[in-house]
Amino acid sequence: MKVMKFGGTSVGRPERMHHIANLVVKEQEPVIIVLSALSGTTNSLVEIGEHISKGDRQSAKSAIEKLEAHYRSFVAELLKNEETIQKANNIIAEHFEFLNIILKISFSEALSKDILAQGELLSTKLFSVLLEEKGIEHVLLPALEFMTVDIYDEPQIGGIKIKLTQLLKQHAKKKLFITQGYICRNARGEVDNLKRGGSDYSASLIAAAINASVCEIWTDIDGMHNNDPRIVNKTLPVEQMSFEEAAELAYFGAKILHPASIWPAQQFNIPVKLLNTMKPEAKGTTITAEAGSVGVKAVAAKDNIIAIRIKSSRMLLAYGFLRKIFEIFEKYRTPIDMITTSEVAVSLTIDNDSNLKEILKELEPFGTVEVDKTQSIVSVVGNQISLTEDMVKKLFGSIRHIPVRMVSYGGSPHNISLLVPAEFKTQLLQQLNKGMFGLD
Ligand code: ADP
Ligand code: ASP
Ligand code: MG
Repeated sequence: MKVMKFGGTSVGRPERMHHIANLVVKEQEPVIIVLSALSGTTNSLVEIGEHISKGDRQSAKSAIEKLEAHYRSFVAELLKNEETIQKANNIIAEHFEFLNIILKISFSEALSKDILAQGELLSTKLFSVLLEEKGIEHVLLPALEFMTVDIYDEPQIGGIKIKLTQLLKQHAKKKLFITQGYICRNARGEVDNLKRGGSDYSASLIAAAINASVCEIWTDIDGMHNNDPRIVNKTLPVEQMSFEEAAELAYFGAKILHPASIWPAQQFNIPVKLLNTMKPEAKGTTITAEAGSVGVKAVAAKDNIIAIRIKSSRMLLAYGFLRKIFEIFEKYRTPIDMITTSEVAVSLTIDNDSNLKEILKELEPFGTVEVDKTQSIVSVVGNQISLTEDMVKKLFGSIRHIPVRMVSYGGSPHNISLLVPAEFKTQLLQQLNKGMFGLD
């Protein structure tokens, strides 16, 4: 069995949904299709939730009306039979009625998750109606019945596997399954999600749970490029990379993949392919245990980084200092991304500021604490990069005129990270594109 995930832009227009239907029907193997919400929908739902949380029901109401109108015209273009159009319009009515009811209830965090779930519920149901109109046999699998996270919001493949296998058993003879990306149920049994861009993570978790032959991520670009195409002009796709390389790139900001989407596939050794829905013949990127080649493959940038420096003469010749500092971050479940040390100071970065105040208070007794917000981590990722000839020369040549705040080298053979003030990110990515890849 294989998994094929289609992102927001791949389902965001009626003709693209038709295109996907034609793509998936060609599959020989049984397949689970994971769909995102139509592009723009999750952003609109976030906006609606924010209006409601601020008590601005009028703005929420008009945003709901605008979104509903979008879906009505989408369906009018998507379908041609009266019966299926009616069916699709009933689906739209049902989901927008739900949103309108929410308008009248007092706001809560759980309710905001219910709002966000509407996008994937709508896209999968509408795609199912399209398949029905085309006479393509399929089963709609409700993700909320098998995709679960634990009390720490971590998905557990074991539990997902048991529930998904049971569901699939009920349709043993069927070959085409559709399910929602992104949405899940949390440990309290409420509707929740795997964070923005989470449909990639859903696809990889499902692929791991069913031990799929491949996990295909279909999007609007022909694979992982060597640099961020939203920021630099010229970028090229990378044909092959290892799980480690892809995980580093995803974690350090390559938007094409959700930050956590690689580990499930890696754990079960399932190849991941990044493919372009609009150009299905393009090779894209294959991600397996094999890196394919040695050297730098790509750079990526992660924003909203906070740098913390703890200076203390007590660090001098002392042991146990770092442990005590790390324990504070552990206590507040705040991951550290980068770390560098000198004899009298330690600098580290975090991207989650939800407990920053408490962390800083607990760090105070250890020395002088300095905090720099709005930093960016730029990561250079590849295979055995430290062994690559001239790499360091090219890298340091590329960072000229940029005030690099931290450098992390040697933590893994796949990654060198630089911390720079956010306003230098674009310039650094451009300089690296030229200096490391010879692309202008
Ligand atoms: P989807 O809606 O299909 O999930 P996303 O917008 O989440 O698509 O991811 C695809 C986008 O990721 C591309 O359009 C591109 O702009 C962006 N992107 C950022 N960095 C990279 C990179 N290194 N390689 C390819 N795409 C990237
Ligand atoms: N629809 C969700 C989002 O926009 C999940 C996804 O597209 O992967 O974040
Ligand atoms: Mg995405």
